[in-house]
Amino acid sequence: MSPRRRTSVPNQASGRSPKPLPQTSAGLPPALVTSIFDRLDAMHPDADTELVYRTPFELLAATILSAQCTDARVNSVTPALFAAYPDARALAAADSADLEPLVQPTGFFRMKARALSGMARALVAEHDGEVPASMEALVALPGVGRKTANVVLGHALGIPGLPVDRHVLRVANRIGLVHTDDAVRAEAALCALLPAERWTRASDTLILHGRRICKPKPLCDRCQLRPDCAYYAALSPAAPRTRRTGRS
Ligand code: SF4
Repeated sequence: MSPRRRTSVPNQASGRSPKPLPQTSAGLPPALVTSIFDRLDAMHPDADTELVYRTPFELLAATILSAQCTDARVNSVTPALFAAYPDARALAAADSADLEPLVQPTGFFRMKARALSGMARALVAEHDGEVPASMEALVALPGVGRKTANVVLGHALGIPGLPVDRHVLRVANRIGLVHTDDAVRAEAALCALLPAERWTRASDTLILHGRRICKPKPLCDRCQLRPDCAYYAALSPAAPRTRRTGRS
């Protein structure tokens, strides 16, 4: 099996957006939203999760380990972890103390070892050792929040999901796609702006844009979104804009 894989999308019933929340998107014309995400795609054609995995179980474990840690560091520890514990049954049989040395480089290692152990035991007890393909079941697992669940749904299970991390929040707010620092509200707003089949890639491109260009100190001169970015417009009020009108 390929170390990274993107499976086909649909099953939109399971990949539905969060429950309705107060509208936080900017009421942008659909064609402009499409254009913004098309340009993000063009700027980051390689966008995908950078976590290396072979199965939904491995991606779930790797994503739990990625909290407050770089993907590269997670990828440095998961080969040994998955060699020793290749599936949920093997991991469930381990003591969390046995896992601690393996995950120590990812930080918060005692908490993460407990989360991995609890997650695996719940998979065995409640899902026959398999990763469930629904948001509700995933977030009921120990150590699994909405962001982790969306990563697994979108990348390993072929179900649309839009993970929101700090990069997604920063970039989406700067562009003006959302107006909130709340991850659940931002997820709902972004999902409302896009067809379900674009959710996962939208998150991947926003994350890469935040890492590479729209950093905390943004590199706007390298960004194709300047004409439609609220943050850039505020910095450069004389700049030509297509925002909202769709015209140059
Ligand atoms: S124009 Fe600047 S602030 Fe706007 S998305 Fe691009 S890099 Fe970020």
